[in-house]
Amino acid sequence: MDKTLIIIDFDNTLVDVDVDWEILQHFLPEVAESLPDTFYQENDWLQFMQDNYIQMKQKGYSINDINKFVSSIPLTIDFKYLCNYLGENKNKFYNIILSGSTEYNIHAILHANGIEKCFDEIICNKSILDKDSILKLIPVGYGHNCKYCNKNQCKTYIYNQSLKGKFKKIIFICDGSNDLCLAKRLSNNDILYTRIDHKLYNILIKNRNQNIVNCSIYPWKNGNDIFNLIKYQ
Ligand SMILES: [Zn+2]
Repeated sequence: MDKTLIIIDFDNTLVDVDVDWEILQHFLPEVAESLPDTFYQENDWLQFMQDNYIQMKQKGYSINDINKFVSSIPLTIDFKYLCNYLGENKNKFYNIILSGSTEYNIHAILHANGIEKCFDEIICNKSILDKDSILKLIPVGYGHNCKYCNKNQCKTYIYNQSLKGKFKKIIFICDGSNDLCLAKRLSNNDILYTRIDHKLYNILIKNRNQNIVNCSIYPWKNGNDIFNLIKYQ
């Protein structure tokens, strides 16, 4: 395909927070407060969130309560503008969200901001509503053997399965240490936008380890920083 692949991470990139964490703090604050710092690295996060959705239902929260709360989570500054620009230029760009977040929540936020149509594909953990209106989470990107990524998801594994070799160039917009694995697979023709003062930035820029990736690196604070460069692609 003679297009540039735009890969946008979701939590802490397209939205300014981690959505699962916001849900926990809002609906199950006692669970959020009890989590040790190393919990995410050491545990099956998706199974943990599955148990939390069941617990929310038991506490009397409905899927509408969750939808209403999640829909109010704001996008990161200028990302609506950036997404609309990308959506208006699908002749040049193939726009995807690649995320360990949950389909239901991603769709709720995109819908609330009117930007669903900007994306060609959303690759994330799937979710369906069961007969009791509880979200059932179905992992995507599990079953990889990657030694860099925790078992929840390896973005390189997903990239290799369905995206590799189809695009002339890749632009990867992200923030997290879990994005390093895919960042390392990018070539010197590709571009990485890494969020200032977030984990991937600290690994690549602060520690002056730029040479662990082959692609060009541009730091960003908001969607406009990315727009100002991407419009020349
Ligand atoms: Zn990996």
